[in-house]
Amino acid sequence: MSDFHERQTGLPEDAAWSRDVHHEALARKGADGNCEACGSGAWGVGERLLLIQALDPAGRFVPGSGVEVVPVFCRHCGLLHLHLVNVLLRD
Ligand SMILES: [Zn+2]
Repeated sequence: MSDFHERQTGLPEDAAWSRDVHHEALARKGADGNCEACGSGAWGVGERLLLIQALDPAGRFVPGSGVEVVPVFCRHCGLLHLHLVNVLLRD
């Protein structure tokens, strides 16, 4: 748990719980096979969701438009996968 996060938002942060939920979702979806780059089966899941922010044709941020993703990375070679959180966590 992060004291800093708790001070900023008033809510506790449970990164381990989030990682467990994401690991379970990857297994349930069959998305935890070996790394296609190096063959390792050692995946790590980021503690936090990432936001891929939408841009307009001029390259400016579009407020409120983007997708939230779960970063999953190979612990051996670093290959990074991004899973859409609303699809990964859907049953
Ligand atoms: Zn790999």
